[in-house]
Amino acid sequence: MADLKELRELTGDENGAQRVAWTDTWEQAREWLRGKLDGLPLEEEIDPAGNQWWTLRGRSHRAVLIGGHIDSVPNGGWLDGALNVVAGVEVVRHLAEGGQPAATVRLVNWADEEGARFGRSLFGSSAAAGSMVDQDELRARRDADGVALPDALSEHGVDLDDALEARSQLEDAAAYLELHIEQGPVLESLDLPLGVVLGTFGVERHQVTFRGQAAHAGSTPMDKRRDALAGAAKLELEIREIANRTGNGAVCTMGGVVTRPGIVTSVVETAECLLDQRHLDANQLAEMLSNAEAASRRFAQEEDIEVEWERIWNIEPILFDESLIELADESIREVAGGQSHRLPSGPLHDAAEVARAGVPTVMLFVQSLRGLSHTKLEDTKEEHLELSVQALDRLADKTIARVAAE
Ligand SMILES: [Zn+2]
Repeated sequence: MADLKELRELTGDENGAQRVAWTDTWEQAREWLRGKLDGLPLEEEIDPAGNQWWTLRGRSHRAVLIGGHIDSVPNGGWLDGALNVVAGVEVVRHLAEGGQPAATVRLVNWADEEGARFGRSLFGSSAAAGSMVDQDELRARRDADGVALPDALSEHGVDLDDALEARSQLEDAAAYLELHIEQGPVLESLDLPLGVVLGTFGVERHQVTFRGQAAHAGSTPMDKRRDALAGAAKLELEIREIANRTGNGAVCTMGGVVTRPGIVTSVVETAECLLDQRHLDANQLAEMLSNAEAASRRFAQEEDIEVEWERIWNIEPILFDESLIELADESIREVAGGQSHRLPSGPLHDAAEVARAGVPTVMLFVQSLRGLSHTKLEDTKEEHLELSVQALDRLADKTIARVAAE
């Protein structure tokens, strides 16, 4: 707790945390982290993607990884990412006190999880996972002040061309553990401090465009209209039904609708809708998508308009490791009065990249007050933060024993 508060003092201001990756404040936070691990029998290394690693050699070279990210969004919260790393420091301290562990333990502070400055999330973890395939596009990215991404990186000793060499870091990885604040309201609503994360949602993002006919708002009778907004409005209500029918955490959001010509005296000719659908199960996600498509065609027919779908982005659901989920559940029950809960994660995390690379992975969530994150209002009860570190400590012990015995 003292370390977390110290970091907040050092790298925050009246508007919240300011540890944006590839800035001086971020570098200061990394330096602070280094200081916290000083004096422990660890090997320190910064990999070619800028990820900071500390290795406690165990009797087995197979490694249990504990990860987090010290970077924040501008005016961010004090716990997002930082809790993970600081809890990891505490676990490593504890392990080092016990002499050489049965398996190697590595703490990693991923570089630029948030993507706040250049709009590219999960930078360091995707490089280590080998899934970074957009280097050509990254080379052209600039921040709000016009600074190119490769220039900002090189100021911090990272050459974009070499970033994928970080892949070698996962070679001996036998398990990956990450503690994170939930950033949502579920655990608080259940009055539970901690939960096990089953995986991260798959996402389908589409632009759905309805096309009708612009016509005078005064002279066009109601039954003669081809109103594109009518299709969009019906679809917005239908996606809520689709999510409810699908259940198991399904969410559908129409995050924006742009109408043209967009004047008060005309029937809407085109309505461009932004649709985001998420589910932990790939089949159910595909079904939600096809249900929404079918519904949009039905509405287009009813309104005598046309509809067109264009995919903006998608990612498959990423499931965490079943046996690590069991260990995490056990760890939570031991520290939190016998109660645990399993839930999916809506946001993506570094853990998803590591899991995608084939490393058995699990995450713990600790309750977020009011479900708020990415704001200075982000908070968690101190007693819950303490429980979360204890649960991570137990989970690390169990995982080390499991990995050493394999
Ligand atoms: Zn985070």
